[in-house]
Amino acid sequence: MSDESRDAANRSARDQKKEAYLRAIYDRYTGRFRGDGQQEASAQAQEVHAEMDDLLTRDLAKDAGSEGIRCGKGCSHCCHEPVEIWPQEAALLIDAMHEAGRELDRERLLRQSASTVENWRQQPLADRACVFLGADGACTVYEFRPNVCRKLLVVTDPVLCDATHQQPDSVGRWFSWEAELMESAALEVFGASLMPQALLKALNRTD
Ligand code: SF4
Repeated sequence: MSDESRDAANRSARDQKKEAYLRAIYDRYTGRFRGDGQQEASAQAQEVHAEMDDLLTRDLAKDAGSEGIRCGKGCSHCCHEPVEIWPQEAALLIDAMHEAGRELDRERLLRQSASTVENWRQQPLADRACVFLGADGACTVYEFRPNVCRKLLVVTDPVLCDATHQQPDSVGRWFSWEAELMESAALEVFGASLMPQALLKALNRTD
């Protein structure tokens, strides 16, 4: 066998091993989420969020590249993009709003709910903003924010995150494989919807 063929065979074996390792993590989460049926929706979301926070804390501490993360309070370009959540996260957000005595902007949610991932950016800028985004550019439900918001961390200049003026592929992301797999498993098992649709459904259940 030539050196080239041996290198290719080694690479392929490494790739297969990595794929099997990642598949095992994904299967562990889907299996667990499938067995999590008895819990109250908000409590379940809080439990999975706490697990995501622990996981991110662990992986951030292990990776020197995380020191380059540029996300900060008041930087909100990503809060103008379509966000997919699962129903338990919607229930938690609605409960948090009720407990705080706050009203959701239903009119905006209804307008947003006519949009898809593909045409989200065709809405006026004010309508593209998440209904939980404050006037100061900070998240008003930070403690209860969905997992997709928890794990979205960038290492490039925040200016590049402005999808109105920049190419989305110019943004450099820090990510944890396990966080990505855990969230994919949650979306797969619990069901994925864009935030406006999920919130309207959860609101209709509580009306
Ligand atoms: S929930 Fe908070 S962090 Fe997530 S998109 Fe909305 S405002 Fe941004």
